[in-house]
Amino acid sequence: MSREAVADALAASEHAVALTGAGTSTASGVPDFRSDDGLWREFDQSDITIGRFERDPGGFWRDWTAIHADLFQDDPVEPNPAHDALADLERAGILNALITQNVDGLHEAAGSESIIRLHGTGATASCRNCGRTVETTAAVEGLDEAEFPPRCEDCDGVLKPDTVLFGEQMPLGAMREARRLAEETDVLLAVGSSLTVDPAASLPRMAGRGNATLVVVNLDDTPVDPLADYVLNEPVEEALPSIAAQAIDGE
Ligand SMILES: [Zn+2]
Repeated sequence: MSREAVADALAASEHAVALTGAGTSTASGVPDFRSDDGLWREFDQSDITIGRFERDPGGFWRDWTAIHADLFQDDPVEPNPAHDALADLERAGILNALITQNVDGLHEAAGSESIIRLHGTGATASCRNCGRTVETTAAVEGLDEAEFPPRCEDCDGVLKPDTVLFGEQMPLGAMREARRLAEETDVLLAVGSSLTVDPAASLPRMAGRGNATLVVVNLDDTPVDPLADYVLNEPVEEALPSIAAQAIDGE
C-alpha cells in the first residue's frame, strides 16, 4: 500500500521537502482559483493584476478583499488535518522545509516554521513608499470601501498586499531557495498541487537532481505523475495524517 511505502521513505529520509498547492487548503474551505467552480467564475483575473493595482489601487483593494473575504471574516478559515500533518512531520524532524504556492497563512497557523512562500502572503501588506509592513486585517479594519486603498500610517503611501499578483515577478530569494531545496532533497512530497504552473511544475523534475523519491498526493492527475515513484489520488486531509503518523512511529 502506497501510504506505508511513502511513510517508510519519509522516515528514512535525510532532507525531505514538501511542495503544497491550493488543494491542500480546499478542505479548509479556501476556494481553488483554478477549479471549475472556483473564483474565476465570479471574478476576473485581470481585476487583481499588478497593472490594475498601479492604475486603480482603490478598485483593486475592493476586488481583492472581496476575493479574499475568508481572510477578513471574524471567523477565519482554520488549518485542516493535512496542514497539521505537515507541521507534525516538521516538528518530528522528518520534514526539512515546506515550499508553498498558497497565500492563505494556514501552514503558519498549523505551526509549520520552515516555509518558502513562492507567491508571498496575503496575511500582510507593505507600503509601496517606505516598505513598512502591517497585518492586512489591521490595514483594512474600520475602513469603508470608499476609503480604499489603505495607506501607510507613517508616510501615507499606498499599501500593497504581500501576495505576488498576476503579472508581478515572483520573489527571487524564495525561488532560489526553493530550487536549492528541490535539488538537495531525497524525498519530495507534492501535496494538493496540479503541478501545471511554474515553478511548482518544474521543481519535482529537479528533485534530488533526478534521484529523489517523488511522491504526488492530489485528487486529480498531474503532468508529473509519470515521473513519480508514488501517486496517491486521495484526499490530502486523509492521506497526509495517516502517512505522518506512520512515518513518525517508524522513525
Ligand atoms: Zn510608508
